[in-house]
Amino acid sequence: MAILESVGTVRPGHSPLDVTAIRHDFPILSREVNGHPLVYLDNAATSQKPRQVIEALVRYYEEQNAGVHRSAHTLAARATDLYEGTRARLAEFIGATDPREIVFTRNTTEAINLVAYTWGQQHIGKGDEIIVSQMEHHSNLVPWQLLAEARGAHLRFAPLTPTHRFDLAAFRGLLNPRVKLVAVTHMSNVLGTITPVSEISRLAHEVGAVVLIDGAQSAPHMPIDIKHLGCDFFALSAHKMLGPTGVGALWGRLELLESMPPFLGGGSMISEVQWTKSTWAPVPQKFEAGVPNIADVVAFSAALEYLGNLGMDTVREHEKGLTKYALTVLRRDHPDLIIYGPNDVEWRGGIVAFNLRGRGEGTIHSHDVGQILDDQGIAIRTGHHCCKPLHTLLGAPESARASFYVYNTPDEVDALSRGLHVVKRIFGRR
Ligand code: PLP
Repeated sequence: MAILESVGTVRPGHSPLDVTAIRHDFPILSREVNGHPLVYLDNAATSQKPRQVIEALVRYYEEQNAGVHRSAHTLAARATDLYEGTRARLAEFIGATDPREIVFTRNTTEAINLVAYTWGQQHIGKGDEIIVSQMEHHSNLVPWQLLAEARGAHLRFAPLTPTHRFDLAAFRGLLNPRVKLVAVTHMSNVLGTITPVSEISRLAHEVGAVVLIDGAQSAPHMPIDIKHLGCDFFALSAHKMLGPTGVGALWGRLELLESMPPFLGGGSMISEVQWTKSTWAPVPQKFEAGVPNIADVVAFSAALEYLGNLGMDTVREHEKGLTKYALTVLRRDHPDLIIYGPNDVEWRGGIVAFNLRGRGEGTIHSHDVGQILDDQGIAIRTGHHCCKPLHTLLGAPESARASFYVYNTPDEVDALSRGLHVVKRIFGRR
């Protein structure tokens, strides 16, 4: 990023976002934690919510609340319009042409399980192979373990390069006609690694495999164009992209969704019901059994509008600048830090997981790091981040993780660095 390179020190000159104005939109950012201003660096777990989203939620309950798709009264029609309006807005946000290709779920996890229990049960058989990468979140690993076990299929693992990138050459070597599904993250929630999804899709399709992309970390932080990615399914969570908890979405190619059996049975997903058999509503209703999470879906629209107004290219540029700054500052100030993930911010999102070497051989436990930072008002994630096998590969049972979003600043990166000095003092490292 030109702004970064041109500065004598490593500090970014300015962000392409008006971060001061953005911060005013997030009420929680003005609170203190443990007597310090909150420095929220746990965005990969869940993002904070702007006033616009909170107000949309309150407005829905105060003015619009009703069941969707059923009753004939005014409120029900309004609630349905709002609910379906989010579907259309999300389709546009990810470059999908048909809103029917969007299925609302509770989160990314449920979206992936939906595919495993419908398409997977239908198409994966004995001896088939499913490829995932070595950096998958448990959400994009465990459902495939369950499916492989149930169907007598095999899991294969696309490895990482030594610099923690997706190893495309090794992936190519795993492909063969027995591979029926490739399920890969778009951005690792530990390494920050961005995977070459268009290339992965192209190669997988050459052997006839279907491609599912876990977009939980990418959709909040970079422009998504489904057509360009070339995948068949894409899963995301609203709560990581300024939206409410309890809402996720699965995008799927229409012809695939139409050919899949239902996931859950019940109200709203049927066409005809007799005593012993039923037929299904058209997609997406076929996959949205029961009364959905209407209020949170409606408020998600405000989050999409907010991100759309910022511009996802700009969001990505802002985070690239911060990530580059963080990598430089943390390495400069803490040579004893083990930082995971690629150096090249073209292939890395705003996620910096690390371990701090302790006295002797080991590292300082990430929970201790997190606790001491919390004492200073700094919120980071600690533990295995739902990536236990990946941590085994990294040779560390767990790590500390800072992750950035639209409201984070270089000052907050500096606060993190100062906070780590405190950790080291307490652990007698200095
Ligand atoms: N995939 C990735 C890469 C994630 O980071 C997460 C959450 O952290 C998930 C999937 C699961 O998201 P959710 O818990 O919202 O279903």
